[in-house]
Amino acid sequence: MNNTNIYQLRCVGCQKIVSETNSVSRCNFCGEALDVEWDFMQLKKRVKKEFRKAAPLSVKKYLSFFPLHKNSKIISLNEGGTPLIPLKKLVLDTDRGLALGHDRGLGKKLQQPKLFLKNEGMNPTGVFKDRGSLVEISKALELKARAVVCASTGNMAASVAAYSALAGLPCYVLIPENTPLGKLAQTISYGARVLSIRGTYADCCELAEKMAAKYNFYLAGDYVFRSEGQKTIAFEIIEQLDFTSPDAVIVPVGCGTNLAAIWKGFLEFKKLGFIKKLPKIIGVQPAGCSTIVAAFTKKLKKAPFVAHPQTICSAVGIGRPLDDLKALEAIRKSGGIGISVADSEVVRAQLDLGEQEAIFVEPSAALPLAAIRELKKKRLLKKTDTVVLIATGTGLKDSKSALDAHPAPPSVEPEMGEIDRFLKYKLYAIRSAGFSERRKILFRATPPLPKLKNIIKKEFSADLKESHLAEIRLAIETFLAKGKVVAKADLQSLVEEVLSDLTHEARVMRVRDYKLKIQRKERPYAEVEIEFLGKKLRANSRGVGPVDAVISAIRKALKNKSPLRENLVNFEVFVDADGVDATTEVKMELEDSQKNSVVAIANSPDIITASIAAFEKGYNILYWKGEKG
Ligand SMILES: *Cc1c(COP(=O)(O)O)cnc(C)c1O
Ligand SMILES: [Zn+2]
Repeated sequence: MNNTNIYQLRCVGCQKIVSETNSVSRCNFCGEALDVEWDFMQLKKRVKKEFRKAAPLSVKKYLSFFPLHKNSKIISLNEGGTPLIPLKKLVLDTDRGLALGHDRGLGKKLQQPKLFLKNEGMNPTGVFKDRGSLVEISKALELKARAVVCASTGNMAASVAAYSALAGLPCYVLIPENTPLGKLAQTISYGARVLSIRGTYADCCELAEKMAAKYNFYLAGDYVFRSEGQKTIAFEIIEQLDFTSPDAVIVPVGCGTNLAAIWKGFLEFKKLGFIKKLPKIIGVQPAGCSTIVAAFTKKLKKAPFVAHPQTICSAVGIGRPLDDLKALEAIRKSGGIGISVADSEVVRAQLDLGEQEAIFVEPSAALPLAAIRELKKKRLLKKTDTVVLIATGTGLKDSKSALDAHPAPPSVEPEMGEIDRFLKYKLYAIRSAGFSERRKILFRATPPLPKLKNIIKKEFSADLKESHLAEIRLAIETFLAKGKVVAKADLQSLVEEVLSDLTHEARVMRVRDYKLKIQRKERPYAEVEIEFLGKKLRANSRGVGPVDAVISAIRKALKNKSPLRENLVNFEVFVDADGVDATTEVKMELEDSQKNSVVAIANSPDIITASIAAFEKGYNILYWKGEKG
């Protein structure tokens, strides 16, 4: 049978039929998205024979559902066949290493016993998009494309680049400048010609479309053929649930292409008579980029644009969704809902999946789990419902987001004493305790010692001795003197510092006070007072900036008294500006003449305070190392 009359492309806006030789992306009459419309009588004949045989799950199992010609080359990396994981934790007999049974894991915790997760991170490039790339790049070959171009927030780029590499097609990729490094590295490794655009994903999209038109490249992305591959997510879920539908499927939404594709998959199996009932399709977006969800809530026909998406969910930070019409129809027709969640909920869900189910996802892929509590509160899920979360992509490619969700691990000397301290003070527990409610304000005034002791006990389950408490109190005083309040995250770093740092006695150098003078047309001037081996030393210096002036003055004061000849080899500043109270993290690498080196990290709302603290820390460790050696 010839494929050309088994399906046609119809515009979801003006409803006109478009030929695939004219456009494979948008309608050339009105610019809206296209949809593959099947002749079901013929499709039924075609899939009947080979389908439902006991072949293992994989996207290629469903080739007859794809709009590809019979003798076309199939570009495949063995995508699909991803596990549908019940969120029940295995309980082990730790002595014998045997599985005893299941604690009902997150499903139990959330009172949703029939909770499943479709782990799309297991696809060849770590994301569900590989399912669509099979169809899209096979189609590009079929249409004799000379090159492929695509815009992406990272995952699409890597997936399209991989399939293009396999097809032997040059691949041009346009990505925003802030694309997660893992995704960029992957895309470059597949040999794509990458352009980093100083703009948003929407800017990349517009350029990619123009590039495709001008140079006659095949435009890959969230367009009509991609959905045909991605609908296999629904096919697999149905097979994995023994040819039944779940009650609800919860999907992260960027362009809306995947959500619409999943709905299409369920519809096709229903029309073919393989299932009786359809699931509710629930779309989830981060609050900082709620386009399709806003349209659903406000009953709009099209999604409003978001000019500057603000979210850690970079894969769905898409301000102008291409498939808003299709996604809205899927949500509405299925009786589902669109819901948005705060980034803080996403981070919590991402941690829960990792810590409780050993599934490491990127933030966007944690959106469905993050929505569960709210959905239950709104009574949109019944306890008996079978619910499937679509975990769209692996966490490995966006490692920075996971690292940002945790404090950096402590660096210690290669000595058992340091390990003992780590265990004795349960430093790991302090770190995780500090993670929740990081911005909760604890002190606006310096607390008396007993109160400080109690709060540290309550927040971090740590029982500190008097000298440690006094030290923390002093630091709080300095903090408040800068006109800032002390949040839980701040107290956490202070507690960690006194516990994991050198003992009080070993601290040979300490900055007692500093003054800065900054005047127009003059280099900043600093005066410092330090204590070195119990002696007060003073010095002053000018610098290229205020931080430089202060650090130079400290080093000048030390110069004639200290045997240590330290070298500042690296200096980095990170600003965590979530809300009004920004925290600055300073990372300094110091080296001595024997090439001993130390990386010291310090946090403070104030960059100068953080820089001084980092220098102090690095200097003291290096001094101590030199003494030892
Ligand atoms: C692309 C992507 C999405 C969003 O899919 P859309 O089809 O754009 O709605 C969600 N999560 C991840 C990890 C993605 O890469
Ligand atoms: Zn149209």
